[in-house]
Amino acid sequence: MTLRVLVVEDDREIRAMMQSALSVEGFAVQTAVSINEAQALLHHALPDVLVLDLGLPDGDGLELVRAVRKQHTLPILIVSARHQEAQKIQLLDAGADDYLVKPFSVGELLARIRVALRHRGTALAAAVTVHALDDLTIDLNTRVVQCRGEPVHLTPTEFKLLARLVRSAGRVVTHRQLLRDVWGPEFTEQTHYLRLYMGQLRAKIEREPSEPRHLLTETGVGYRLAVV
Ligand code: CA
Repeated sequence: MTLRVLVVEDDREIRAMMQSALSVEGFAVQTAVSINEAQALLHHALPDVLVLDLGLPDGDGLELVRAVRKQHTLPILIVSARHQEAQKIQLLDAGADDYLVKPFSVGELLARIRVALRHRGTALAAAVTVHALDDLTIDLNTRVVQCRGEPVHLTPTEFKLLARLVRSAGRVVTHRQLLRDVWGPEFTEQTHYLRLYMGQLRAKIEREPSEPRHLLTETGVGYRLAVV
């Protein structure tokens, strides 16, 4: 089955780069240069993934995220310029699945699209319960975490935090989401809990805790469990 991607981007070079990269990977690519054009295309036929620039000539991509989310569950991946970083949390709250900050590589774009599609797929089928990357294996069913072939002993809270990231592997999870899901809704402002427990997890899992390869920091937003 050919997956269809709608790329909404007004910058001609970036649009052409994404179009050719996605076509080479076998996606059927449509492009739009404005919110109006995107809405017309979405109305006509729904793609499997929406890749959306934020700064568009007729408005902000955030408006389109909100409009699309009222009706559809397709994955939405934001590509934003660095000065738009402050909007990340707003975008995730509005229903965007993830974001990439320009400049990004073709490899990053493809990896994020795959992750977004997989999460939408698994939300409908079974949830992800095993995560393996390089020297790290996490099995949520057996609650066994192994690092470089050795079992890692985690406290119940450390395990809960790691498990929450496994369930969203490859995607950013905001501080609020982590605090709510691991500690509870009354703890969503306690970001120091997260810093503390993330430090403990990194000390147990990462080869170089100060240069994490698995538990990545998304500055000002949250954390991401690496999948590549
Ligand atoms: Ca733009």
